[in-house]
Amino acid sequence: MAPIDLPELQRLDAVHHLHPFNDNAALAKRGTRVLVRGEGCYVWDAEGNKLLDAFAGLWCVNIGYGRKELGQAAARQMEQLAYYNSFFQCTTEPTIRLAAELAGLAPGDLNHAFFVNSGSEANDTILRLVRHFWAVQDKPRKNIFIGRHNGYHGTTVAGASLGGMKGMHEQGGLPIPDIHHIDPPFWFADGGDLSEEEYGLVAARRLEQKILELGPDRVAAFIGEPVMGAIGVYIPPMSYWKEIERICRQYDVLLVADEVICGFGRTGQWFGSQHFGIQPDVMTIAKGITSGYIPLGAALFNDRVAGVLKDVGGELAHGATYSGHPVCAAVALENLRIMREERIVDTAREEVAPYLAQRWAELGEHRLVGQARIVGMMGALELVPDKGRREFFPERGKVGGLCRDTALRHGLILRATYDSMLLSPPLVLTREQVDELFEKAWKALGETAEAIGR
Ligand SMILES: *Cc1c(COP(=O)(O)O)cnc(C)c1O
Repeated sequence: MAPIDLPELQRLDAVHHLHPFNDNAALAKRGTRVLVRGEGCYVWDAEGNKLLDAFAGLWCVNIGYGRKELGQAAARQMEQLAYYNSFFQCTTEPTIRLAAELAGLAPGDLNHAFFVNSGSEANDTILRLVRHFWAVQDKPRKNIFIGRHNGYHGTTVAGASLGGMKGMHEQGGLPIPDIHHIDPPFWFADGGDLSEEEYGLVAARRLEQKILELGPDRVAAFIGEPVMGAIGVYIPPMSYWKEIERICRQYDVLLVADEVICGFGRTGQWFGSQHFGIQPDVMTIAKGITSGYIPLGAALFNDRVAGVLKDVGGELAHGATYSGHPVCAAVALENLRIMREERIVDTAREEVAPYLAQRWAELGEHRLVGQARIVGMMGALELVPDKGRREFFPERGKVGGLCRDTALRHGLILRATYDSMLLSPPLVLTREQVDELFEKAWKALGETAEAIGR
């Protein structure tokens, strides 16, 4: 490998590259970290540091880095047919095969795929097509989406509007009309004296209240992440989603699961909906579908919704140049083949996740940790000022950022949202790597506690 001129790269980056979700002025001063290589659960940066990536890139590198088969699948498809569209009564073989493969994998009758390039675009797609679904059935007023405060559905205009991140709404005049939000299920901060299961019902019934307030004839769909990721891995009580599903059925509101993180094994099941035992009408997926090796997203529709879109919807005035891109589809097929044949989801659920949960709970005993939550291969440590109380630091985010930087110095990548340390490793993490993760995280917690005088 040719040597890398890091100072020069950092200079060029500071001058020419605007980073997403960054304070770009601060980053330019500090100098960006340049990653150069990945293998399994590790990545290397340009300074030669080997880092255990306990965040799988950005929740996405489910099969781990460095699987040559995916590159080979891409190369084969590029050489044979690098591109063709799915617009003009055409498509390509990998695109068709992937649509069929997803129909087989997804729960219930989510048998119909619409391809895009990202999770955000998948959520844009469902906003338009679900409204269209009701409109062509003479219910154009049934167009309101209900999401959750602090939910994350991406950064396009519809995605950010469906999401409930205030800081995102403030940039660009969002949300767009006819999108409402209810409070998310987060027992740690909001559960009071209720048991988690009781609280799950209370939190779910906020949806019913909102539907009744707006009128069931106005509400098109409810959208939620099975486990809320970006805001801090909020794992709802098991009672929550069942009750949400009941409410959606009762008022004929479509249930949309944003499985962009939870899909493809993150919770220990292929889809988060299966973990919670619910059957969505519509699902959005991205990230793990290609393990992040190439961009791809999709919206999956059940027979009812797709049937209406096909039979009375007329021409679908929606799509992207790269909808169903054959190279992306070929990579996704190869990724899914590896996941199936190597039993990656089953192995994660049966062999790694229980051990990870045990060691995560041990981290939860640290004096800085108020709650250690985990489901399958995703979790969070909630850092708190007083272990005995479910309260946040007064200045939220400072301690989390410190802990993240400290972990990085020990060769461990964790993400911090406010003071939640987020975990989402490749699904191929081994038990030995769980131990390594534990040791590095424990050190980082200790040094963080010391640094803030606790
Ligand atoms: C990442 C994410 C998205 C957006 O996906 P992009 O590919 O970044 O556009 C949407 N929903 C959830 C739950 C996500 O985590």
